[in-house]
Amino acid sequence: MSNSRETGDSREFCPRCGDPVPERDRPLPGAPRDHDESLCDACYFEDFDLVDAPDRIEVRVCSGCGAVHRGNRWVDVGARDYTDVAVDEVSEALGVHVDARDVSWAVDPEQVDQNTIRMHCHFSGVVRETFVEERATVPVLIARQTCTRCGRIAGGYYASVVQVRAEDRTPTPAERRRAREIAETYVADREADGDREAFITETDDVDDGVDVKLSTNQLGKDVATRITRELGGSVESYPTLVTEDSDGNEVYRVTFAVRLPRFTPGHVIDPDDGDGPVLVRSVSGNLKGTRLTTGAEYESAFEDDGTPDARELGSVEDAVETTVVTVEDEHAVQLLDPETYEAKTVPRPDYVDVDADAVPVIKSRAGLHVLPEDAVADAE
Ligand SMILES: [Zn+2]
Ligand SMILES: [Zn+2]
Repeated sequence: MSNSRETGDSREFCPRCGDPVPERDRPLPGAPRDHDESLCDACYFEDFDLVDAPDRIEVRVCSGCGAVHRGNRWVDVGARDYTDVAVDEVSEALGVHVDARDVSWAVDPEQVDQNTIRMHCHFSGVVRETFVEERATVPVLIARQTCTRCGRIAGGYYASVVQVRAEDRTPTPAERRRAREIAETYVADREADGDREAFITETDDVDDGVDVKLSTNQLGKDVATRITRELGGSVESYPTLVTEDSDGNEVYRVTFAVRLPRFTPGHVIDPDDGDGPVLVRSVSGNLKGTRLTTGAEYESAFEDDGTPDARELGSVEDAVETTVVTVEDEHAVQLLDPETYEAKTVPRPDYVDVDADAVPVIKSRAGLHVLPEDAVADAE
């Protein structure tokens, strides 16, 4: 379209209809302007749209977990129902004209059928000192699909396995339970932080321990580390090449072999250092315990994963109460052997009271060993 008044005083005339534009409708001198701003009100409003609305919106939602597909990924929206999701999606998709001020709007969802929600939108605002309003109806189609995560879980996908085993024994029921809890809590925390890649595929109780299959290598590593930090022992990892991904990268599945220590709290062991048996109190890091001859603290060196080369004599679970015949002196006490009822003199650890009538003991080939009362109470 040509305009004979383009040069010279064109700013004062509408570039479309050629009518003079009143001073008050013109942009301020020096202000940036575009074609629309130079138009007179009549021409400006002729093709003015307050709202730019799409003809329809399709929302992909996961029928498994309710996640919504946005951009190129699935996100958890925490919506109560799909109407909330539809309102959000429409709000995102609608564009309000940049010239409008004092904009207010309302959306009224109408459920048409299970998968269609009609959004009645009402907008108003002020443009060129003029109140304008506009209605738009946008159908939102809900497409029920399966997100990547749900698809992987359903397909049994996993990238690491944490195998919980124990040295020269099988893990106790308490250790099995705790290992599962550690894995579940850790993964639940990752999920709560919004990590959609974090999940447990499967947990299996096997004869010699527990196997936990996890969605990523890192998750397996983190869970294995947390289990040994709490329950003691060590971890070794073995990567296995499973496949190549679509970009030709090698994909590894990693086995994290957790080996819990040979002894657990409550075991009575003899470290063979000449100072007598030790009640194991803790195995996180190295082994710590109480010497049953004196009551002194015992702590193993950190070599061999902190587990000393020791013989097992028994456990607090084998403890029985027996009668104290007499406390002979600071270092000796005479007890009744709970099996033969013979009086026997054994070392007196400092936790045995002078006026104790009975004490918990365990019997091994090495003799009678007096246990601390609190250790036996903990085991019950
Ligand atoms: Zn005009
Ligand atoms: Zn899902």
